[in-house]
Amino acid sequence: SATVETLEFQSEARQLLQLMIHSIYSNKDTFLRELVSNASDALDKLRLEAFRDKDLEVDTEDPHIDLVLDKAARTLTVRDNGIGMSREEVVSLIGTIAKSGTAEFLRKLKENQGSQDLIGQFGVGFYASFMVADKVTLVTRKAGEPGGTRWESTGEGTYTIEPVEEAPQGTSVTLHLKPEDTEEHLYDYASRAKVVEIVRRYSDFITWPIRVEPEDGGEPETVNSRKALWARSQSEVTEDEYTEFYKHVSHDWTAPLETIRLSAEGAFEYQALLFLPQRAPFDLFMRDRKRGVQLYVKRVFIMDDCEELMPEYLRFVKGVVDAQDLSLNVSREILQRDRQIQLMRRRLVRKVLSTVKSLMADKPESYDTFWSEFGRAVKEGLLDDVDNRDAILDISSFASTNDPEKLTTLAGYVERMKEGQEHIYYMTGESRSALENSPHLEAFLAKGYEVLLLTDAIDEMWVGSVPEVKGKKLQSVAKGQVDLDADADTDETKQRAEEFAGLLSWMTEQLGDAVKEVRLSSRLTTSPACVVGDEYDLTPTLEKMYRAMGQ
Ligand code: ADP
Ligand code: MG
Repeated sequence: SATVETLEFQSEARQLLQLMIHSIYSNKDTFLRELVSNASDALDKLRLEAFRDKDLEVDTEDPHIDLVLDKAARTLTVRDNGIGMSREEVVSLIGTIAKSGTAEFLRKLKENQGSQDLIGQFGVGFYASFMVADKVTLVTRKAGEPGGTRWESTGEGTYTIEPVEEAPQGTSVTLHLKPEDTEEHLYDYASRAKVVEIVRRYSDFITWPIRVEPEDGGEPETVNSRKALWARSQSEVTEDEYTEFYKHVSHDWTAPLETIRLSAEGAFEYQALLFLPQRAPFDLFMRDRKRGVQLYVKRVFIMDDCEELMPEYLRFVKGVVDAQDLSLNVSREILQRDRQIQLMRRRLVRKVLSTVKSLMADKPESYDTFWSEFGRAVKEGLLDDVDNRDAILDISSFASTNDPEKLTTLAGYVERMKEGQEHIYYMTGESRSALENSPHLEAFLAKGYEVLLLTDAIDEMWVGSVPEVKGKKLQSVAKGQVDLDADADTDETKQRAEEFAGLLSWMTEQLGDAVKEVRLSSRLTTSPACVVGDEYDLTPTLEKMYRAMGQ
């Protein structure tokens, strides 16, 4: 009919689809986890919407997810009666990938020959359907709207979209299964046993009922146990269950690095189930990325990305906090003012930091992974979270001249400090090799002093605001007067000053306004001269950063 339109996928979306069609991901079962996860999110959103807007004409009678199998037609349909999508939403949510940095991500993916790790880090969601289907049909009606939308695609560059008059509220996704998947029983996604097995393995904890028709027809049966993991006793939950739950809340495809459980009883009761991921999301340092802790109240989902529960510098922590004593219509404004929430957040933060600390002691490899993925974000906390500064410093590691391969903690540095060494020396810059070739280091190395080599932009910012570490001052080797020799005022130095006075004044004249002062130094051993900043000057890297920001 004339109302059918054919539209093109956005180019990033097209590239991702190609990856899914040619299935770089070996575990195809995950497509169902993704569709069920979306259906569950849609039911969460519907409940919230209906709660917020009592006049909304929506059906919240029997929220559930149906899995409908048609062996003869070789289709599998995942249907929910959740929030649904408008036509515009279908086009923007399904036809494009709005996450910033996607193009960059895809470039990396190509370089790495479509590494599974990377795709997991990105989270492909709905497109996972194309691992098992050669055509996907989606019919949806947004709750409260009269008409629906039908979308269909083979995943090859374009899709069709058309209005439909009659459509039930919510979304149904029908997969026309690829023929090759029938050959092996393993891949028979039109088999009830297989589908039920996958649901139990990946989606058991989903709070909404997931129903499947029995082989012989009859009433659909709920196949998931629907138990919230955080409400079950710790010993009862298996590692696999935690992993699958993590994948649902985080949209990550890789198992978590560490699982953190916490609960409080008494006047303000809550349970928390948090995760440290194994990989930083590709958008960890992009402005529109989200924080990962969901708030529930008495088992009911309230909001995603609850920033009141986790500070910015721990934005990579994923999971759920279920508070028993909040009202279901709690808002961000209320959360911001609530003293109990502030206490809870303090405790969650301390628990995350102490978990990392115990990784250091008990699972050094996990700690190394954690630090290389998230250290840069964690160090933001040295500026933002003064109360926990010591705890953050305790779990921080830095490159140093002590060992080219290994990072050091500050405690390790202090332990190695030489007799008579008063300060913790550091140098900031763009890369380790640039720092190692810097003339500023020479005298320190010659004296056998260890110097921290700080190469993250954030390092420039926190070193200036941390007055002391373990009773030692942090001292830049590139700034001001660093007296390596106690004998600064001896006859010898005076004599040398006189000897070089002519040269110094000639240099001062030649360099003019470019420098403040030219002076003799004891800091160099092999280089003839170097530029040092004043104690309170910006470092070269910071200067560059500010210039880049147009200041
Ligand atoms: P993600 O779930 O990580 O956002 P997906 O590719 O799985 O990515 O889904 C993209 C978006 O499409 C979702 O964020 C949601 O807005 C929308 N969507 C997908 N499935 C459904 C559904 N069953 N009901 C309503 N909206 C959906
Ligand atoms: Mg999804």
